[in-house]
Amino acid sequence: MPSSPAEDELVGAIKTVRDAHPEHGIAKLWAQLKVDNPEWTVSEKRFRKALATAGGTASGAGATAPAEKKSGKGKAKGKGKADGAELVARTGLDSTLDIDNIAPKVKAKMFGGTRGKGLVAKSTIEAGEVLWQEEPWIACPDPALAPHLVSKRFCAHCLGEFSKPNPPLSLECLTCTHAHFCNRLCLSRARPSASHHDLLCPGVNPLAGQLQSLIAGREWRSLDVVARIIAKWRYERAWGTQDAADEITRRVWEGIARVNMATRESEKADWATRADFTTRQWKLAHESIVTALNPEPFTLAAPRSTRGARKQRPLTDEEVSRWFSYESFLELLGMVNINLEDSGGMYALHAHLNHSCDPNIQVRNLPRGFVGPTQLPAPLPARNPPGVRGTHKLTMLARNTITPGTELTISYVNLELPRDVRRQALRDGYGFWCECVRCEKERVETEAAAQPAVTATADVVDDVTAKMDQLAVDQDETAVEDML
Ligand SMILES: [Zn+2]
Ligand SMILES: [Zn+2]
Ligand SMILES: [Zn+2]
Repeated sequence: MPSSPAEDELVGAIKTVRDAHPEHGIAKLWAQLKVDNPEWTVSEKRFRKALATAGGTASGAGATAPAEKKSGKGKAKGKGKADGAELVARTGLDSTLDIDNIAPKVKAKMFGGTRGKGLVAKSTIEAGEVLWQEEPWIACPDPALAPHLVSKRFCAHCLGEFSKPNPPLSLECLTCTHAHFCNRLCLSRARPSASHHDLLCPGVNPLAGQLQSLIAGREWRSLDVVARIIAKWRYERAWGTQDAADEITRRVWEGIARVNMATRESEKADWATRADFTTRQWKLAHESIVTALNPEPFTLAAPRSTRGARKQRPLTDEEVSRWFSYESFLELLGMVNINLEDSGGMYALHAHLNHSCDPNIQVRNLPRGFVGPTQLPAPLPARNPPGVRGTHKLTMLARNTITPGTELTISYVNLELPRDVRRQALRDGYGFWCECVRCEKERVETEAAAQPAVTATADVVDDVTAKMDQLAVDQDETAVEDML
């Protein structure tokens, strides 16, 4: 029977959830509270009040920009000039990507300044056109999918749903019971995309146990992705080729935007209240990664996929410091937090796309078997019907006609949010103040409207805050629905 908790009971439960999930924003905390206490009925308004009583807010100043990024999109990049302190992400072009081959009508460009890199159209692109499709180079499902993976209802690689559990052509990981795959093709991609990596498979590497418990216990997806990235490099370094290892090094340390997680979090308003706890969690996570992926000496038996042992060269001091120092861990965590896509993990070319509040590209997770339009211009594909799941493959579609030389943009936030809320969410989540054409237009309009009298009142601010939170919650709930 649904029940309404007493106030102190509710406040206590909120404290517990917040301590267990220091990185969660308001919407995620509320969702977690509901998961932990399924019998309770607590309205959003009451939750917010009790959260305030519990002492402060969730992670971040804005409910729409949890530190653990909830709804897809890219990376921290300033667009235009700074407005106050700019948290500028370090970034460069990803030299390991063959863009001509993946997206023939697209090229990468460095814009300079705080704007970083981006993509522009090489030739005219028509509305509805599929620019490219992309699978993650590091695949990592949402932790909420874990029970369904174990119960053999999903492919651990492509995240496609089986028509019934454990269907005939599907197969299991050779060394554990945690991963099930559509077929041999998906299984063969499990290591290269780290959707189920040997070095993190409990059947191959028992040293990863503590790390896996930490990830599972906290549903700590960004840590999971960091572990997968390092595992991918460590495997190539130990048993693959030097070229393959170097390619990962270049992509991670030169090609993807990143900010140091501690720098990013420490500038948030509530940092002082959670600094100790969060820092302890980071230290524990870092130790677990080193234990799992770089024990000294690294004596792990060669995984089956290597076809036997090979004499390993020890890591150089530079390699150890680059991949296994605590500072590097914070850099990787920050990188993952601004680049992780809800639908499946880290995407290499998609990560080049900058934000606009009036974007010309729409990103979709379409169901298996999607075929692009045969005639252009075409409308964008309809929303996935209820019960039909998209895979982790992203499809980039043109929202309108795009002329050569125009920058391709996506939105990192809900476009229906009002200007100030959007901009704050982008600042909190991605480190920049948006100065796109729409933001500028709306600023001018607002200023013009405000000329006769100052109209901003506390009520307006309250309204905006309430709307923002509602939208954040709606988004979260949609995301959960999409998943199941
Ligand atoms: Zn599959
Ligand atoms: Zn396994
Ligand atoms: Zn904008």
